[in-house]
Amino acid sequence: MIESSDASLLKFEQRTHFVNRGREVLDECLIYFRQALANPTSVPPWSIWWESNVEVVQRVFPPLDYVRLKHRRLRGAMQILQNRGELPENYVPPSPLITGSCAECGERVTNHRGGVGGGYLSCPTCGVVCNYDTRPPRCV
Ligand SMILES: [Zn+2]
Repeated sequence: MIESSDASLLKFEQRTHFVNRGREVLDECLIYFRQALANPTSVPPWSIWWESNVEVVQRVFPPLDYVRLKHRRLRGAMQILQNRGELPENYVPPSPLITGSCAECGERVTNHRGGVGGGYLSCPTCGVVCNYDTRPPRCV
């Protein structure tokens, strides 16, 4: 009798631990999303992060959010933060000219000089993401 209640208590503790761990993991993902939007170069690009977290994301996020993240990448992460009320509906992520990272998919952009004082930024996933007429701020 005692053994069986101990066993069920242990099961309960394991389950609680699992739930708490799930919450921690979810928080870690949200921390990455916030950083990847506000200060992308302080964290790994989306593809690197996704590769090592895809199973965790599938486990702790609802299926709809998992699909959102899989297909929309950083844009999906932004929508999740907006749905949680952490970001305003009209939030605009910082320009790739400033961050050096694509605001759609979270990959690093490449800077191409198009001519005197101008050029474009391209993203390995999205293609050209931004044209500019003058030097980008980060290249001053
Ligand atoms: Zn992109």
